[in-house]
Amino acid sequence: MSVIPLYQPDISGAEIQAVIDALRSGRLTAGPRRDRFEDLCAERCGCGHGVAVSCGTAALHLVLRALDIGPGDEVITTPLSFIASANSILYVGATPVFVDIDPRSLNLDPAAAEAAITSKTKAILAVELFGDTTHIDQLAQLARSNEITLIEDGCEALGGVHCGRPVGSIGRAGVFGFYSNKQVTTGEGGMIVTDDDRLAALCRSMRNHGRVQPDTDTTLLSTDGAPLIHDQLGYNYRVSELACALGIVQMERLDQILSARRTIASLYMQKLRDMPDLILPTVEVPQDRSWFAFVVRLDDQYTHVERDRVIAGMSRHDIGVAAYFPCIHLQPYYRQRFGYDKGTLPIAESVSQRCIALPFYNRMDETQVELVVHTLRVMIQREQLLRRDE
Ligand SMILES: *Cc1c(COP(=O)(O)O)cnc(C)c1O
Repeated sequence: MSVIPLYQPDISGAEIQAVIDALRSGRLTAGPRRDRFEDLCAERCGCGHGVAVSCGTAALHLVLRALDIGPGDEVITTPLSFIASANSILYVGATPVFVDIDPRSLNLDPAAAEAAITSKTKAILAVELFGDTTHIDQLAQLARSNEITLIEDGCEALGGVHCGRPVGSIGRAGVFGFYSNKQVTTGEGGMIVTDDDRLAALCRSMRNHGRVQPDTDTTLLSTDGAPLIHDQLGYNYRVSELACALGIVQMERLDQILSARRTIASLYMQKLRDMPDLILPTVEVPQDRSWFAFVVRLDDQYTHVERDRVIAGMSRHDIGVAAYFPCIHLQPYYRQRFGYDKGTLPIAESVSQRCIALPFYNRMDETQVELVVHTLRVMIQREQLLRRDE
């Protein structure tokens, strides 16, 4: 592990105790902790239902299934995201339609999304990248006026607010993931939030093999006397009580977690402000932002070779950095399957080649932030020297 890692889960004594209590309770799955975790997430998102599942990708898959999106349907989405958002569209046999992004927020460009709507479009799957919620209201409006569905991939924006509305409540359904680099983690886990009773019920059933009474016991032999009836194709996307015990405490600490992250983000902002050649994240309303990652980018005189060298240089100094995110449409699998070429989505491609995610976690202190900033400065100066020597 790096001296200053890219991310680090924030697990306090309360989480550890909660998991021990869950273990001692004798109920390891489909119990009261799951119900409580679901309620906490639904409440925080201002939604009527929360459905806990095994990961964020499973949550996306179930929402697309519940909306009956499948072969022949198109889903408009962003090329600049973690690959799971687009993969979920492939899981249901639908076609992802990638459209370009806005270079400021790095989110889907609403005008580009509008231009991509066809008679086959069923949904817009929007991602609030790195916690930035910009344009989600416009995308919701666009979806409404075209009678298609907005799915909110809020995996990177839990607890964020856009124009007074919590992330997750703006689309027909919102999706979250609790992998260990997220604001709230359960190790692995995911959540669907929605006001749509039918959608929630379908997701509950499909997470447990499509069972008619999905919330009763989950073993092969029904111990509650209910017949094991499966009226649709489901999956095992259940989540353990151990994970939910962890999630409950993390959700209770969410305000504290988000505020720690805001403090670190603003430290970075202050210390990087005067740095030439660097583009900082945009922040609409600071107190509404839920920060997932702190991602800066080199300006457009830099190539991806130079960016990669900066990343390698920082890694050599034991600082955890990453290239968040490579464009999904240019991933080998997508290129082979759909034949995308470079230049298809010029803004996303250009931005993606110059981004650098810096270390970012709740317990980072000012000294660590300073060391990251100093090292980044040195690495950029090094690129300038190398260029001069060419
Ligand atoms: C983390 C994440 C997911 C879900 O990831 P899982 O690893 O399946 O929990 C989905 N979309 C985005 C944008 C993410 O960042």
